[in-house]
Amino acid sequence: MTNPFSLREWRHNPCLMSPLTLTGFILLCLLWLFTMILKFPTFLLGLFLQPLTNRMGFIVEFLYPLSIGRWVHFYIMRLAMRARRLDKSHGYHSRAIEQRLAVVEQRIYVHALPQFMDNLGYLIVSVPTAASGNILAVVIDCGDAEAVTRQIYFISERHYRKRRIQVVSILSTHKHHDHTAGNRALQNQFKDTLKHIMGGAVEKVPCCNYTLVNGQIIPLPADDSNDMNAFIEIEAVATPGHTRGSLAYVLRPKVPTSSSMSALLFTGDTVFSGGSGVPFEADIDTNQETKANKMTADSLLRTSAAGYAMERCFAELLHRCVSHLQMPRETADRIIVLPGHEYTTDLLARQWSQPNDACRWKLFSPAVFFEVASHFYVGNHRRNLPSNNGNLLIAPSPLSREVLINPGLRSLLRRGVLVLNHLNQWHNHFAVRKVPEAVTGAFGVNASPSHLRHRRSRASNPQSTEKQWNINGNDLSRPVFTTVYATDLEALMHDLEKNRVTGPVAAARLEQMVLALQQPNVGRRPIPSSLPSSNAVYKGLLGFALLGSAPNALSLSDSVAMKLPAPVKHSDALLVSKSRLIAVLYWLGLLNEENEGQRTIRILEQLWWECSKYESLLKYDLEEAGTQVRDTIQLGTLKWLVYGVPTLRPAGLFCMPCKRPEPMQDVRDHPIVQCGLKREQGELVRHDMYSCPLCIGATGQLIQNFEQINGSMRINSVSFEVAPLEVSRED
Ligand SMILES: [Zn+2]
Ligand SMILES: [Zn+2]
Ligand SMILES: [Zn+2]
Repeated sequence: MTNPFSLREWRHNPCLMSPLTLTGFILLCLLWLFTMILKFPTFLLGLFLQPLTNRMGFIVEFLYPLSIGRWVHFYIMRLAMRARRLDKSHGYHSRAIEQRLAVVEQRIYVHALPQFMDNLGYLIVSVPTAASGNILAVVIDCGDAEAVTRQIYFISERHYRKRRIQVVSILSTHKHHDHTAGNRALQNQFKDTLKHIMGGAVEKVPCCNYTLVNGQIIPLPADDSNDMNAFIEIEAVATPGHTRGSLAYVLRPKVPTSSSMSALLFTGDTVFSGGSGVPFEADIDTNQETKANKMTADSLLRTSAAGYAMERCFAELLHRCVSHLQMPRETADRIIVLPGHEYTTDLLARQWSQPNDACRWKLFSPAVFFEVASHFYVGNHRRNLPSNNGNLLIAPSPLSREVLINPGLRSLLRRGVLVLNHLNQWHNHFAVRKVPEAVTGAFGVNASPSHLRHRRSRASNPQSTEKQWNINGNDLSRPVFTTVYATDLEALMHDLEKNRVTGPVAAARLEQMVLALQQPNVGRRPIPSSLPSSNAVYKGLLGFALLGSAPNALSLSDSVAMKLPAPVKHSDALLVSKSRLIAVLYWLGLLNEENEGQRTIRILEQLWWECSKYESLLKYDLEEAGTQVRDTIQLGTLKWLVYGVPTLRPAGLFCMPCKRPEPMQDVRDHPIVQCGLKREQGELVRHDMYSCPLCIGATGQLIQNFEQINGSMRINSVSFEVAPLEVSRED
């Protein structure tokens, strides 16, 4: 017989109120009460004021910085570690010590400092010219002081001949314990040298003795023989969303280097390689994209809610990564993203498994697909190396890759394409002065699928016609993604061998193949001679707002403390900046030479000129009218000039809830009425199954009566011209 009072029996007692759980519960309650009593007045005030703010996370935000919060955080982390069968000594990346990024050769290096299971801190090291000088260093994010100290020792042994590395300051990206818990211990470790522990002004970073605001240039360590400030600058960029005071740090070399880096972005938990952080403290909003599909032109935009807040942080980082954008010179592969966690493979795996809105494969180009697939493969390979070999880092990743693999950036890209579409439409129909066409055909519209142009006919196969698809075994067994673009290449090599093409022609064809990779196989374009539908107006405005307006603070007090724009109640009052829009579109790759970037910029300038003039007229500021082009204009002005949708007078605080707000402008004043265009629902979907490389296995190889699908067609009872497709047939 077993003893009913043994501890073992209690533990297996299914009853919830067994004495042991009860004692634990009471202890937890006492602990809670104790913390409450200590900070009770603040807590009570915050709790009562909570409904006035949009954010509901007050209790968590209040409890989190306390020791109980830290304990809970680390307990959850330990559980996750156990679930993945990892112990503390075996992180994902045991060979990070060997690696260093040369920012300025011989002078500035960046090392990764893996901590815990998947956290990444960084060490920025400045090496003096004199052999006797001190090596100064800055640590970004110290969650585990022991791991950081140990790695600094090994780094000095391996790279700097055991010279002592003096840590002078710690930059914390945000308050979460996995990024800050080691601050105090590291301070004790480097007592004689460590001067500053820096963090956001509204962030409760432990031991913080130097608060930072948005846009602040951070003072870097310097002594007689070694001045870090001479080579690099680090700017704090506020990215409210993951936490309200989150900061990203942008490192820019000040001297010309051969290291091929324009900027390093230390993004903390805002941007990861292949994804974005959880917007814990942004405004609450669920299922935004589903809601966005039901919104109309008059709906208010909630740009600081959840996912939108994160997208704005992404855009902010793109805008701020270089201080002065020099267009063709700076390219996206010179911007390096250094995230706060090594989540790459998990985030990429999620993209395969969750068919969410940002991952609608059908809308993306083969280039995106290839990049995600290959990076996923590379990541898994590096994480599963033989254990005696050690694991390698995946994370630091150039922006050029992130634009393809990161759903947040891809979402921005989609919005950018929509904005450009609407810009062109505005320019074609309503602009007072037209921008001359440098090259025929506006961006994105009527571009014939370029992969078609050099596809060779294969006369030996039974040919398909539009009505009759003759498919043979070769068509069915065609492994699409590995060969579709390879066949083009083979054909080109064949032609070169036979001297059928000249060098320049071959080069042009090669370029076409690269372009074809970037073309989505299913494209969308607005129905010609119609205006965007009401929902498309909403989405276009959302695009203008997310790409072109600075992220605002999540509360009024935050905006003062962090020097951020205050939250905007009425979205028509959002300020959209032209330079920001241009920078973001540029980094997303939408202003290249191929897609007539210069012309798009001219169109934007024209639009801003007209908007500034309109805004000056509104304010009866006639002197200013037409003389000065502002950089920022209100979203409401864009809404009126681009879409002809009047802005609504903001509702007063005490007005009757049933009274509809009146529009500020009269629709009859807009050229919309004269031009006779109508608002249509939706867009045309462009997919030509006879030429699509992915569908060719189902339709057969060559369309004899190709001309049949050219010429006039009627879709949705709107007549439009299909762009003539050029097919060069050498045979
Ligand atoms: Zn975090
Ligand atoms: Zn974190
Ligand atoms: Zn297809």
